[in-house]
Amino acid sequence: MNILVSACLLGVSCRYDGKHNFCPELGRIAEEHTLIPVCPESYGGLPVPRDPAEIREDRVIMKSGKDVTAEFQRGAGCMMQLADFFSCEMAILKERSPSCGSGKIYDGTFSKTLTDGEGIFARLVRVAGIPIIGEPEIPVVFPT
Ligand code: SF4
Repeated sequence: MNILVSACLLGVSCRYDGKHNFCPELGRIAEEHTLIPVCPESYGGLPVPRDPAEIREDRVIMKSGKDVTAEFQRGAGCMMQLADFFSCEMAILKERSPSCGSGKIYDGTFSKTLTDGEGIFARLVRVAGIPIIGEPEIPVVFPT
């Protein structure tokens, strides 16, 4: 099947700090499935590196105070076009991200405090009916 994957999990250095979150287990999954890399923040026009951002009352705010909700929404919309084009049946998304996180995200205070919630892109993926797993769940959903 075609699976959406956060590009930073595939080793792309697209995180806010210019780093990645390479997840070696994805190599094993790629032997049987087609992985479609997505980075909604990059496709929304945000640079690398960039200020960290968190969701506060349905807005996405950078640590500097800049409101980047529009950029996050634009990138998420672009990535949903990819999901639709490739008829993706699953998404493996980076946990805790204000775009890709599902279940828990940072609370908007930039104090590393987690709260219940989901990222801007993860919300669209969920509403589209595409199952989402975070990277820690890979061994459970795709056992060796
Ligand atoms: Fe990774 Fe998603 Fe953040 Fe891009 S938007 S760096 S894919 S977590």
